[in-house]
Amino acid sequence: METKQFKAESKRLLDMMINSIYTHKEIFLREIISNASDAIDKLYFKSLTDTSVGLNKDDFAIQIKADKEAKTLTVEDNGIGMTEEELENNLGTIAQSGSLAFKTDNDLGEDVDIIGQFGVGFYSTFMVAKEVRVLTKAYGSDKAFLWKSNGVDGYTIEPAEKETAGTVITMVLKEDTEDEKYSEYCETWRVQQLVKKYSDYIRFPIKMDVEHSNYAEEGEEPTVTIETETLNSMTPVWKKNKSELTDEDYNKFYSEKFMDYQEPIAHIHSKNEGIATYDALLYIPSKAPFDYYSKDYEKGLQLFSSGVLIMDKCADLLPDWFSFVKGVVDSEDLSLNISREMLQQDRQVKIIAKNVEKSIKNELAKLLKNDREKYEKFFEVFGLQFKFGIYQSYGAAIDTLKDLLLFKSTFEDGKSVTLKEYVSRMKDDQKYIYYACGETKERIDKLPQIEKIKDMGYEVLYMTQDVDDFCLKVMLNYDGKTFKSISDADVDLDTEEEKEEVKKLDEENKDMFAFMQETIADKVNKVRLSKKLKSHPVCLSSDGGMISIEMEKVLNSMPQNDANRVKADKALEINPNHEIFGRLQKLYAEDKDTLKDYTKLLYDQALLIEGLSIDDPVEFANLVCKLMIK
Ligand code: ADP
Ligand code: MG
Repeated sequence: METKQFKAESKRLLDMMINSIYTHKEIFLREIISNASDAIDKLYFKSLTDTSVGLNKDDFAIQIKADKEAKTLTVEDNGIGMTEEELENNLGTIAQSGSLAFKTDNDLGEDVDIIGQFGVGFYSTFMVAKEVRVLTKAYGSDKAFLWKSNGVDGYTIEPAEKETAGTVITMVLKEDTEDEKYSEYCETWRVQQLVKKYSDYIRFPIKMDVEHSNYAEEGEEPTVTIETETLNSMTPVWKKNKSELTDEDYNKFYSEKFMDYQEPIAHIHSKNEGIATYDALLYIPSKAPFDYYSKDYEKGLQLFSSGVLIMDKCADLLPDWFSFVKGVVDSEDLSLNISREMLQQDRQVKIIAKNVEKSIKNELAKLLKNDREKYEKFFEVFGLQFKFGIYQSYGAAIDTLKDLLLFKSTFEDGKSVTLKEYVSRMKDDQKYIYYACGETKERIDKLPQIEKIKDMGYEVLYMTQDVDDFCLKVMLNYDGKTFKSISDADVDLDTEEEKEEVKKLDEENKDMFAFMQETIADKVNKVRLSKKLKSHPVCLSSDGGMISIEMEKVLNSMPQNDANRVKADKALEINPNHEIFGRLQKLYAEDKDTLKDYTKLLYDQALLIEGLSIDDPVEFANLVCKLMIK
């Protein structure tokens, strides 16, 4: 018989399993039972529409047998089974189980974390077994096969005999060592304990023959009877009443179901009757999965119809901005054989999705109100998603999210504030909600424009994430108050008199400004006096238009935009109260060539302050030198 080798990725994982020092090796049973349950789910689902399956709901079960003599543990299911090809593909390669989509260059030590966080599926059996045999027959096939492996030397597949569809997994346990009592896994009490701990909510009965000793009379030999017992309680937790459940029950279910061993921030358990009848149990995780902000992340809730799983990740039940939510929805209104396409159109699903969104929003609002610290932590992890949500939905999500947003602000030096809080503190004469964009709070604090606004006593929101400016541009305003970037040309900070004065000065110097603008015509649309500078000589302003300077920065840093780079309309603004202004006027009258150099230098300075790179650093350096030796 030919011995086949495991695929390279699988081999690495297997080695890790065989040599694992992981202390919770017991999870192998959870993995095997969950596979059995998945397989039964598939056949049960088929049986609902296909009477030739010949099994009723009550016929489906998982059987566990422990043989102390042979030191084997056997888990049998009457599920869908596997064909020869499926055996080959599913057990020869582990990569498709998704568990190994993480870094593979782990040496021992790090495996501990991986096993705990992801659960590693079928191969985890090799943590406790020296040989694993899989006898299986696919539903609808008349051939059965036996897969066998000791993990180290590859595996074999041979034809075998089996009456009915399903799978029998036999694990030959490793020899006991000082530290590990593998033989314990064929003790009834241990199996009972593990099923309760990890697999209590499996929807199908997990059965085992249990010995009972009955002491009839004192002095007499006990009689031993064997009874088949169901080890798990089966009722899904979401079907139970809230009053029966503790936080611990909820959290336990969460960690088992979603393989996240950090306690969730909150859970939402709702039972609904009316236009849509459904139970939902939703969780807000406390940390983002490793791939959350990548395109590999798949959002969705598990969708059940009267307890039968119909979809593992139903994306239509969750809006993108709440894509971090995990949970289950169980509705008797849904037809079992509904297709993915039909689900999207389904009226019930739409109603449920709306309600789900509302209840998540309410839960978060409640958290924000009652436990600010916890909410801020949550927002650190998932807040970015809200901003993307507003931007990517073209504003459809504004109403849902606007009061869930947090921004750092100059009020109490960088503390997080809500927009509601900002508005409640606005001064009587304050027209706008001011914000400033930059890489960090520290950088923004150094922006020339911010000084004057702070002096006037206005609060400024720090926008340090790429998406911020886009998000606010989509929102336009909050509570009727317009957002205004302090880099905008028309950030209006002056009294009428001051405005008049600047206008006059601008007018008087318009020829000089035109001359300066010509010098850097390809870079700015306008050179003018500034109304928003206090001590700095220059700044760049967005000069109207849809693209702000901040957006230019972000969009041009994306590789896909290389071909069609965008350009913000910019103005170079000069501080009329700065000494440099007088100097410029003098040069305009006496030495226009030097004024050209000055203009270029001022422009480059303004770029640097904004955190943009200068176009020609060599020219910049040369100009500075020229001035230094003058
Ligand atoms: P996962 O369950 O995450 O897909 P596993 O490593 O646990 O990964 O299992 C790999 C695959 O092997 C499963 O996806 C399934 O196709 C198949 N499999 C495992 N156990 C059984 C079983 N008892 N019956 C049918 N197929 C099974
Ligand atoms: Mg599995």
